[in-house]
Amino acid sequence: MDTELKGQIAIITGASSGIGTGIAKSMAEAGATVIINHSSDKSTEAADAILKEITDAGGAGMVIKCDVSKEDEVIKMFADVVAAYGTVDILVNNAGLQQDAKFDEMTLAQWQKVIDVNLTGQFLCAREAIREFLRRGPRPEVSAATGKIICMSSVHELIPWAGHVNYASSKGAIKMLMQSLAQEYGDRQIRVNSICPGAIQTPINRPAWDTPQALNSLMQLIPYNRIGQPKDIGNLAVFLASDKSDYITGASIFIDGGMTVFESFADGG
Ligand code: NAD
Repeated sequence: MDTELKGQIAIITGASSGIGTGIAKSMAEAGATVIINHSSDKSTEAADAILKEITDAGGAGMVIKCDVSKEDEVIKMFADVVAAYGTVDILVNNAGLQQDAKFDEMTLAQWQKVIDVNLTGQFLCAREAIREFLRRGPRPEVSAATGKIICMSSVHELIPWAGHVNYASSKGAIKMLMQSLAQEYGDRQIRVNSICPGAIQTPINRPAWDTPQALNSLMQLIPYNRIGQPKDIGNLAVFLASDKSDYITGASIFIDGGMTVFESFADGG
C-alpha cells in the first residue's frame, strides 16, 4: 500500500458513484481515512458497498449522507467527522450534476439546482473545511500543508458549452472560488486547487459513451483517443493532496486526454 496520505482524514463529496468513488478508492489506497459522502436514501446502498470494498482491502472510513447544497447538513457532516476522527485534512469538492436545456427553454429551477449543488455546495463545504483547518492549525506529522481542498471543475471552466449554460457557468465560477481561496488562505498554508476533467466514463455522461457511435464521435474531441476513467482522476487527486504537490496552489489542472488542445485544428483548422 502507498502511504502518501497516511494518517489523513479526507472528505470526498458525491463519492457513491463515478469520479468520487475513484478518488475515495485511490485515497484509501494511499492511506487516508475516507468519508464517502452521498446525498440521498437512493445512494445509501452504493455508498455502503464502496466502503465495504475499501475496508475489505485494508482501508478505513465511513459513509455520511448529506446534501452539499444544504448549509445545516454540511455543518453537521463536518462536525460528525471531527467528532469521529478529530479533524479533517483533505476536502474533495466533487459532488455535481447536470440539468441540460437549450438556454431559451431553461427553467429557473434547472438553473438554480445546478448552481446550488455545483457552486454553493462547494462554497459550503470549503468554508467548513477552512474553518476546521484554521481551528486545528498545522499537523506537520501528517502533511506540510495545514489543509488541502480539491475542487472538481471541468474542461468547461474553459470551453463554452451550448445547451449546458448552467453547468458551464457553475464550473467557470469554481475557477474564481478556487483561486480566491488560494489567495486568501495561502499564508496559512492551506492549498486549494482544481481538477478539470475532460470526458470521464461515469453515469453523468452515459449518452456520450454507451454506444459505439457515440464513443466514436467523442473520440473526435480527444487527441489521446480514449475516454478517461475515474482512476485517472483518483491518481491526480492523491498527488494534489500529497506533499509531492506542496508548491502547487491556485492551479486548474486539466486531465482530458488533450481535449483542451482543440483537436479540430489538428489539420490546420
Ligand atoms: P456522477 O453522476 O457519477 O457523480 C456525481 C455525484 O454527485 C453522484 O454520486 C451524486 O449522487 C452526487 N451528488 C449530486 N448532488 C449531490 C448533492 N446535492 N449532495 C451530495 N452529493 C450529490 O458523475 P461524475 O462524472 O462522477 O461527476 C463528479 C464530478 O466530476 C462532478 O462535479 C462533475 O461535474 C465533474 N466532471 C465530470 C466529468 C465527466 O466526464 N464525468 C467531466 C468533468 C467534470
